[in-house]
Amino acid sequence: MTSPDLDVAVVGAGAAGLATAIFTKERNAVLRVAVLDGATKPGAKILVSGGSRCNVTNTVVTEGDFNGGRPAIIRSVLRALPVSETVTFFQRIGVPLHEEPGGKYFPDSNQSRTVLEALLRELSRVGAELRAGHRVHEIAREGDVFRIATSAGTLTARAVVLATGGLSLPKTGSDGWGYTAATQLGHSIVPTTPALAPLLIKEGVHEGLSGVAQPSRLDLRVDDAISARVSGSVLWTHFGISGPGALDMSRHWLRAQLAGQRTAMTMSLCPEETFESLDASLVELARDRPRLTLQSVVADRLPASVAAAILNARDLPAGRTLAELTRDARRVLVRALLEWPLAVVDSRGYNFAEVTAGGVALPEIDPSSMASRRCPGLYLVGEILDVDGRIGGFNFQWAWSSARVASGAIALAFGGVRQFS
Ligand SMILES: Cc1cc2nc3c(=O)[nH]c(=O)nc-3n(C[C@H](O)[C@H](O)[C@H](O)COP(=O)(O)OP(=O)(O)OC[C@H]3O[C@@H](n4cnc5c(N)ncnc54)[C@H](O)[C@@H]3O)c2cc1C
Repeated sequence: MTSPDLDVAVVGAGAAGLATAIFTKERNAVLRVAVLDGATKPGAKILVSGGSRCNVTNTVVTEGDFNGGRPAIIRSVLRALPVSETVTFFQRIGVPLHEEPGGKYFPDSNQSRTVLEALLRELSRVGAELRAGHRVHEIAREGDVFRIATSAGTLTARAVVLATGGLSLPKTGSDGWGYTAATQLGHSIVPTTPALAPLLIKEGVHEGLSGVAQPSRLDLRVDDAISARVSGSVLWTHFGISGPGALDMSRHWLRAQLAGQRTAMTMSLCPEETFESLDASLVELARDRPRLTLQSVVADRLPASVAAAILNARDLPAGRTLAELTRDARRVLVRALLEWPLAVVDSRGYNFAEVTAGGVALPEIDPSSMASRRCPGLYLVGEILDVDGRIGGFNFQWAWSSARVASGAIALAFGGVRQFS
């Protein structure tokens, strides 16, 4: 029998695929590794990430920053490449990183292009091949090898790494095909929804507040009990809400809809306050400065346009003074500021989602190798798996860590191991 064309075919030249190929070649230079991607210019998602600045990782990354499969599995994978090693790796390939608020690491260049170019340079330096414009149509296990049908011909490989991402931003090439391939190779898929997606609101104050951002806390109630609570900046938009707080909340709302649960979302516009503390401070203010108007009191805490919209929506005249505010009206105001109802009807979908929730079921993967438990020789890394991180560099860290686990296992399974230089 003729020998296969490749030792390792990595399908997908996103963060996870590029890192897997690089780490594998660093471990074992003799392995023939190629990365196949349907795009003629791979790495589009890296380029658009982090507002084109690429939030590469975060100072502290734990399983608690992720949703999806079992936390113990996520923890085990994350441990394979601690953040300090991610930072060192990028430094080594010419991308020094710096830390910003929220522990976010960005390249010193503040350009995601630097990250992509460095990964491609390193890929070439270690001798892995990039085959752009190779859209994979089918992967079949035939005896000891995989037969891979692509838009540019068929090839064979001893191992396949599925790094095809999920469904978010499909125009970058991640259109969910990987789920079909994984299913054909024996895997099951946890149903997917967008995650880190802006939320659409039926009607409300957002329409007049487009472009205004503010700190907030979002609470999601499922069957009247709080099931998710997210703090962060929320950006009002013409369609609803966006910004880190809304993006982080989206997956919780969408998963609840998927499960057919009854949900209600509220927003605290004064996230540091409780009902008692805010009510008491208004009572005190009314005593000390009774001539203050409601507009000036609320605008002291919120953007003036939000203050006006909230007062208007609750029929509280902006010019009314604190002295004129009845106890009942004061309580209406406090409730409006702490439990502003958001009539969420949907998210903006995969075209605007940063990541996909759901994916290949984690119990079907060996977390010490990222090897499929269903198909020998198959490995899965990155967003295709049932893992989604919150905003802040966590999804890339998942890509780097899962790539590190897979590369170590592939180097061991398909050849002798060379130490990292
Ligand atoms: C707008 C935006 C901003 C983001 N910002 C950040 C951020 O700052 N920090 C962060 O941590 N995360 C961020 N993310 C999330 C992060 O980019 C992803 O989680 C991560 O890129 C996933 O990497 P991946 O390699 O698993 O998949 P992908 O990056 O989706 O790569 C999959 C690759 O597979 C290829 N492919 C798919 N199907 C086939 C096929 N049949 N044949 C050949 N090739 C195929 C695709 O062309 C693609 O290149 C952002 C996402 C978006 C959309």
